[in-house]
Amino acid sequence: MVDRELLLQTAAALRHARRILIITGAGLSADSGLPTYRGVGGLYNAKTADGLPIEMALSGPMLRRDPALCWKYIAELGRACLGAQPNAAHYAIAQLQRLKPECWVLTQNVDGYHRAAGSPPERLIEIHGQLAPLFCQSCGAVDPELSEHLQRPLPPLCKHCHGVLRPPVVLFEEMLPERALETLYEEMAKGFDAVLSIGTTASFPYIHEPVLRTRVSGGFTAEINPTPTDHSAGMDVFLGCRALEVMEELVSHI
Ligand SMILES: [Zn+2]
Repeated sequence: MVDRELLLQTAAALRHARRILIITGAGLSADSGLPTYRGVGGLYNAKTADGLPIEMALSGPMLRRDPALCWKYIAELGRACLGAQPNAAHYAIAQLQRLKPECWVLTQNVDGYHRAAGSPPERLIEIHGQLAPLFCQSCGAVDPELSEHLQRPLPPLCKHCHGVLRPPVVLFEEMLPERALETLYEEMAKGFDAVLSIGTTASFPYIHEPVLRTRVSGGFTAEINPTPTDHSAGMDVFLGCRALEVMEELVSHI
């Protein structure tokens, strides 16, 4: 059950805030039917069908060494994401961004559902990249046909030079996208009046840092998760539920 007091307290804090950061993770897209995953590869919890840990199969080094094997798992992720769509919570977040012109979204999800739901790209930080469009690792050409390639033999190859295509997603052992990271740190330096963390354990330091900074500077922090995380006790408000159960109502009070 959603605690109404806490929901209204959160709505009031967001209403009074100017600069807001919404942090989202796999739990948000789980309500769309996507499996929750750790990093990009948590579609799997242990070993892959190939007997490899997913961290190895879905890594930058594997994409170079054995593109067909790596692509087997990129394709699984791709089919899962293309087979589902944004849910009411994604739309409520986009609505909040319309109401609050200085509301940003920092997402770890690569499914592109925030953009699909109408979140403005200029206030969206996709810190683990996105699944589309594919691009050629050899010549850089962009290829918009992710779903078509998933029906064909893998790995997908470039039309122009036959290089291996890949998504602009952060695989294991790869660096975070420089521009996204820069934007995050620029916005963090300006500070946030309120941070709302949704469906994530915030286990990466760059995900938890904005929460810590906001708390230290006296801002409001809240978390929405079905079960408490390591960080829940430090939040001003913890709402123990799924985002889908509360986001529409929360935004309706702002
Ligand atoms: Zn090419």
